[in-house]
Amino acid sequence: MPSGQELPAPPGPEWETVCRVCGYDDGVEPFWEAGWPNEGAICPCCGNEPSMSDVSVMGLRNLRGYWVGQGACWDSPSLRPKDWDILEQVKHIPAEWR
Ligand SMILES: [Zn+2]
Repeated sequence: MPSGQELPAPPGPEWETVCRVCGYDDGVEPFWEAGWPNEGAICPCCGNEPSMSDVSVMGLRNLRGYWVGQGACWDSPSLRPKDWDILEQVKHIPAEWR
């Protein structure tokens, strides 16, 4: 490695499966991978597509507020658990993104 040519640190975690907008977490599909948003992933709950805008807590609050304001509809209604509880789910949003 030549010195003085360090790459900037990536903006996100190595691995993160929880949706920063709604708290959905299937524990399998990452929304963040190797420090970058997994742009192929779409949250089946709130429909958020991970992007660089998800490093802004204010941006996330906007997305969350819009989603809830529209009725907190599932993007993939077939995946919605029968006993789904939005208040339980939002507890899984990491504290720094609430
Ligand atoms: Zn979500």
